[in-house]
Amino acid sequence: MNDTQQLAYQFATKKGIRGFSEHLLLSAIVTPPPLAHEVEVVTQPEVSFKSLITLPVRERPTTSRQRAKPPPYDLTRTASRRSDRKANCCFTCLTCNIVTMDAAEFRRRGKEMVDFVADYLENIEHRRVYPDVEPGYLRSMIPSEAPLEPESYEDVLKDVDRVIMPGITHWQSPHFHAYFPSASSYPALLADMLCGGLGCIGFTWAASPACTELETVMLDWLGKMLQLPEDFLAGTKGQGGGVIQGTASEATLMALLAARCKAVKCVHESDPQRSEADIISKLIAYTSEEAHSSVERAGLIGGVGIRMVATDEHFSVRAETLEKMVAEDKAAGFIPFFFCATLGTTPSCAFDKITELGPLCNAENIWMHIDAAYAGSSFICPEFRPLLDGVEFADSFNFNPHKWLLVNFDCSAMWVKKRTDLIGAFKLDPVYLKYDNQESGLVTDYRHWGIPLGRRFRSLKLWFVFRMYGQSGLQAYIRKHVELAKVFETMVKKDKRFEICAEVVLGLVCFRLKGSDELNEALLKEMTHLGRIHLVPCKLRGRFVLRFAVCGRTTELRHVQEAWTHITELSSELLLKHHS
Ligand code: PLP
Repeated sequence: MNDTQQLAYQFATKKGIRGFSEHLLLSAIVTPPPLAHEVEVVTQPEVSFKSLITLPVRERPTTSRQRAKPPPYDLTRTASRRSDRKANCCFTCLTCNIVTMDAAEFRRRGKEMVDFVADYLENIEHRRVYPDVEPGYLRSMIPSEAPLEPESYEDVLKDVDRVIMPGITHWQSPHFHAYFPSASSYPALLADMLCGGLGCIGFTWAASPACTELETVMLDWLGKMLQLPEDFLAGTKGQGGGVIQGTASEATLMALLAARCKAVKCVHESDPQRSEADIISKLIAYTSEEAHSSVERAGLIGGVGIRMVATDEHFSVRAETLEKMVAEDKAAGFIPFFFCATLGTTPSCAFDKITELGPLCNAENIWMHIDAAYAGSSFICPEFRPLLDGVEFADSFNFNPHKWLLVNFDCSAMWVKKRTDLIGAFKLDPVYLKYDNQESGLVTDYRHWGIPLGRRFRSLKLWFVFRMYGQSGLQAYIRKHVELAKVFETMVKKDKRFEICAEVVLGLVCFRLKGSDELNEALLKEMTHLGRIHLVPCKLRGRFVLRFAVCGRTTELRHVQEAWTHITELSSELLLKHHS
């Protein structure tokens, strides 16, 4: 043992540290320092877009990093290090094997991982965007049980390449046009890394004050960026405030449950004889027939009836239609209590008319929740902000910065006008969660605002992104996507074989080949099979429609043009086959 080791050993034995901790301390000391990492830089050959995306992943040219010599952490060395540890320690080998990575190795591996991720993202467009694997592909590639003995980091990383990468749908690819975007940016990734490193769980203010306080302030920053009415902000005289939920689905569910609780209380006050079960059985919620399935699901989870409201020719819910349904239901003895409006529906990015629906809901004592999961990010641009007009009538509002505001998943921002409606519905106070100042009125305990107790430090991502992009950078990003969608729309309109199926307001274009659903299904099937671009369909007025969403942070005009060329080439082949 050298001096440091002896000191550490004395410390451990003096403190009576035995077994596991003693081992941790010692094995950390006997672990040799990491070796220097040689990197041989190889320049990347010129390769055409077409050839790249049709090659299987393993044959594709790799990046300079991937071509660099493997890091000098070879398996034999790992093995000898492990036996060093065993030889040096005086307790059971089983315990010895527990230590797999110390801080020094983490530093080295962490830097490598950052390079790995940066290389992946920089070169992502050369990958096939949609994976070519069959369901169940993974099980046979890894053992059926977790390893008894520790494995090396090298082996784990090799398997990331071998097992994981072939089954990845590359959401960050500029050729990804499916669903809605899944936001990503380097500042957000770094903030998430910090979040993981801090590892704190912010369920109460005391559990990590910074975690709670930054979240409250960030939701106010974001609320101000959206020009939300002051009622929704925490740092005002209003009774509202914001919270980060995991997803829009959770936000809708929370809103529905809070509304349910409020409605039960309200009916109970006027009719104390009525049981809670009876009241709940009569509650009825509403949403657009175009709403995301998560709204219907919230109804199912919340155990209340939910009715779909028909939309107008723009796929928007109008007050007149809802009013009729509410009247019918009230006449039949039901209690209308909740309406979920959508701003930016999933199929076609349509907008319910909340300026007329809001007053109706307020008059009928119906909680209006607004789900703007995708479109919400665009409201930071003054030219799109009118789409949010009417939010002043809402009880709660939600959108996903993790969709379109460069904040990595998960981060769904939700505001309520009256925070006691939310908190009051789910408040429980076990002794182990109590602390000083809890009832001072100065602190927020976010555990009362959502379903889970444990919460990650997600506001860090917002803070990093807001500061490093600035509002102007975020606005420019949104505008670029909208412009690219407009370019795509113009190209579709110019080709008489196609039709646009819904108004293009933001970054989504709904289009189809004029003709049968089968034809359009065949087109999408071929696209998916080739894996060069990725789109998903929707049904609009019963017809099969293709959705082209501008999603990637790195999507440029050339990607949109390439996508359109690809679509038209496939269509020509298909139409030729169809007519022959
Ligand atoms: N609401 C709308 C309008 C959506 O488009 C989506 C998903 O795309 C959701 C809700 C569900 O979002 P999340 O995955 O955050 O629950």
